[in-house]
Amino acid sequence: MTLKLDINPIKAWMPNIDNPLLISGPCSLETEEQTMETARLLAKDKRVFVFRGGVWKPRTRPGSFEGVGSIGLKWLQQVREETGFPVGTEVANAQHTEEALKAGLDVLWIGARSTASPFVVQEIADVLKGTDTVVMIKNPVNPDVQLWMGAVERIYQAGIKNIVGIHRGFTPFRETKYRNYPNWKTFIELKRLLPNLPVICDPSHIAGTREYLFEISQKAFDMGMEGLMIESHRDPSCALSDAGQQLTPADLGKMLDKLVIRYENA
Ligand code: PEP
Ligand code: MN
Repeated sequence: MTLKLDINPIKAWMPNIDNPLLISGPCSLETEEQTMETARLLAKDKRVFVFRGGVWKPRTRPGSFEGVGSIGLKWLQQVREETGFPVGTEVANAQHTEEALKAGLDVLWIGARSTASPFVVQEIADVLKGTDTVVMIKNPVNPDVQLWMGAVERIYQAGIKNIVGIHRGFTPFRETKYRNYPNWKTFIELKRLLPNLPVICDPSHIAGTREYLFEISQKAFDMGMEGLMIESHRDPSCALSDAGQQLTPADLGKMLDKLVIRYENA
């Protein structure tokens, strides 16, 4: 299937973007204060284009923090009002998608566990029909490029033109340095199958710990990826989810300063 996207959808969505698409914000929105303070700090760095924040969190086991739920959509609206950031969250079922659309969020993303389920992706696609939301699709947890591509096709067939792929690594089957191992060949294969699809990297969920974020981000740009989604938190050590991999907005800025960034589709 050829996605009939005449121009890079990042450009269509953000005509003034000449740099990589940088998305940042907390793994989970926790309180209104934490959300707003993180957003205010991020807004000082003009390289960040979109604010992210998880409100419904797909936790591996019950009993961990599962997100603040719908109230977080209100905080995302406040972030947009105050900082001008387009805002986005993860949706994992039809109800999330309906609520996020009603709240007028600019960007929705489908998480790795959801991409692995065609039923879930189809349910989300059915709700998205007739809207012009930007939809980002993470790779499935298992390294199956067809499943990733199938999710993109389902969303595309629902009439969504602004689609972005996100590589967040795959569940390792033995101990590895990273929490989820990246497979750059899968990225290359996806680009071969869907050349018009912009793909960005999520180094946070690949790394699992802050120390590896730089090397993964640099590799992503060296491979020609078109941006990054990186988790940030005003005080990462106190985060209710993914504390080990989040950066303060100031540290994110320092990391961006060090990256050698090539952007071929500007
Ligand atoms: C997230 O982005 O917060 C998240 C849960 O990611 P993933 O779907 O990649 O695990
Ligand atoms: Mn996370």
